[in-house]
Amino acid sequence: MLVIKNLHVSVGDRKILKGLSLTVRDGEVAAIMGPNGTGKSTLSYVIAGREGYDITEGEVLLNGENILELDPHERAAKGLFLAFQYPVEIPGVATMTFLKAAMNAQRRSRGEEELQTPDFMKRVREAAAKLGVSQEMLRRPLNSGFSGGEKKRMEVLQMALLAPTVGILDETDSGLDIDALRVVSEGVNALRAPERSFLVITHYQRLLDYIKPDTVHVMANGRIMRSGGPELALELEERGYQDYVGEAA
Ligand code: ADP
Ligand code: MG
Ligand code: MG
Repeated sequence: MLVIKNLHVSVGDRKILKGLSLTVRDGEVAAIMGPNGTGKSTLSYVIAGREGYDITEGEVLLNGENILELDPHERAAKGLFLAFQYPVEIPGVATMTFLKAAMNAQRRSRGEEELQTPDFMKRVREAAAKLGVSQEMLRRPLNSGFSGGEKKRMEVLQMALLAPTVGILDETDSGLDIDALRVVSEGVNALRAPERSFLVITHYQRLLDYIKPDTVHVMANGRIMRSGGPELALELEERGYQDYVGEAA
């Protein structure tokens, strides 16, 4: 489903990704673990289509199509979702307005009819109830005054409503507190489905105590250095990344 082939990415004259290859199959939850500064966030931004990265070689195929030429919104229309993209507060924008705009933008770019308000409200209420997002939160401006955990809940609600084929979660360097971890993990676990894949990117093993990955990939030096099953995460927790950093690039 998601196939990354020999991806080379630079920012300015600095090479960040150096021949990264990875395959994530339908329904698979793949974890990418690696030391700080190795290019994990860069990888998620490049997949999502953020500007400012120079892709010098390689392909990112979503269901066989190279998406690197597409705009971010076209990628989103094809089912890519990068979580934690919008952690900012948007004081003027009502949460419901934002959610409806996001869903309808996706539908328009897919050539689907826009959702009418009653249908939209029904979907939001159902998803919100499932994910523990209160009606009161939905009435506030987007993310305004939300706690860290509430922001994550809102992100997971967005992800549920947009129903991605590939969801990418990049754990921020500041890390999530234990409640936020639970929220994110429960949300992801509830969204696991045979036709939906996840790329869970993390520096620490603890997120994987909650989201059980099918595969674990060690990223270092701008590439995937090793792939295995969930046991690889435990080994990394014990040994750290010492076996992978400093190897010839
Ligand atoms: P990780 O998420 O694994 O911690 P990042 O992808 O954030 O790694 O960063 C990888 C490396 O690329 C770091 O050394 C970082 O400083 C550098 N880097 C990332 N983005 C930029 C940028 N826009 N300009 C310059 N250097 C960058
Ligand atoms: Mg970092
Ligand atoms: Mg990062």
